[in-house]
Amino acid sequence: MDTKYISSLIRPNILSLQAYSSARSEFKSESEIFLDANENPYSSAFNRYPDPTQKALKAKIAKWRNLNVDQLFLGNGSDEIIDLIIRIFCKPGQDNIVTFNPTYGMYKVCAGINDVNVRCFDLEEGFGFRVQGLIDFLMPNDKVLFICSPNNPTGNSIRLEDIVTIGRNFHGIIVVDEAYIDFSEQQSCTVLLDDMPQLIVLQTLSKAVGCAGLRIGIAWMHTDLVKIFNKVKPPYNISNIGQDMAIDKLNDLSKINREIQDIKAQRSFLADQLSKCQSIIKVYPSDGNFLLLKCHDAKKIYHYLISNGIVVRDRSSQNRCDNALRITVGTPTQNQKLIDVLTKYNPENIT
Ligand SMILES: *Cc1c(COP(=O)(O)O)cnc(C)c1O
Repeated sequence: MDTKYISSLIRPNILSLQAYSSARSEFKSESEIFLDANENPYSSAFNRYPDPTQKALKAKIAKWRNLNVDQLFLGNGSDEIIDLIIRIFCKPGQDNIVTFNPTYGMYKVCAGINDVNVRCFDLEEGFGFRVQGLIDFLMPNDKVLFICSPNNPTGNSIRLEDIVTIGRNFHGIIVVDEAYIDFSEQQSCTVLLDDMPQLIVLQTLSKAVGCAGLRIGIAWMHTDLVKIFNKVKPPYNISNIGQDMAIDKLNDLSKINREIQDIKAQRSFLADQLSKCQSIIKVYPSDGNFLLLKCHDAKKIYHYLISNGIVVRDRSSQNRCDNALRITVGTPTQNQKLIDVLTKYNPENIT
């Protein structure tokens, strides 16, 4: 599969699009007097537009992941990148995306906004699936397949060899959303990029790195695809402050890694404690910073927890998730409080 083939997957209007040329992308070298972008010359810290190419932050992220900066695209959260993917590849009213069910909800919402049809592939009991079953399910106008691994809300991962097999049998774009990869023992799919030009790997600074408020989403893809995404994104999609603060955060990798280790240790502790709670039937194994629980009456427990000041996520409406709650791993104190509250839970006393 070559990149010419990948070009044929891009909507023709996007391929022929002339990118908006921003003031800051036209003039790159150092200068003292900027009269090119109609900014307010007086104010201080953020009167200037941000770097549209996010050069410094990209260099930092590429070094952190030990990957090529030319394969890197940044979005205003990975949610923006999901929207861009759908707009770049899917013709409204004509093409489909394929997602697993259950999975992260934004793929469907972004497709809906863009009038792109969603075809859901139901996961089996335990949230696995047969690779051949998925391959048989795929159709010619399926343009993008979204694979969330580790999957939200189920916590399980898809094996890299399965991604490779799917790639050999699917003509469209494969997006692997690795928002939770840093909590997983499994290797990142970025190792497959050189052999799979149709692969886009999403990551984010929102979960393990602890910068959800900054809105920095990461996508690794073929360099030719990065150029297309750069044409389509809003020029100044990541703020000055977002870029600067993210660099600050990534300057202390040992702190980030320590937090990841602590969260993983707390995940085991929580799983162990929760599985001893009477009201909980099952705790699913998780490669993320959350646990999915099966309980007798999710709604009741949800409201009981709220009345004790603890908010979790009720995922009961999703496929194979009846009476399922998703609980994010918190600090040791928060987790202990959760266990204490749940241990005291008595369904008889709740109305
Ligand atoms: C949280 C989450 C995201 C959102 O990431 P942002 O970078 O904050 O937009 C993307 N994908 C999955 C699977 C998530 O759970």
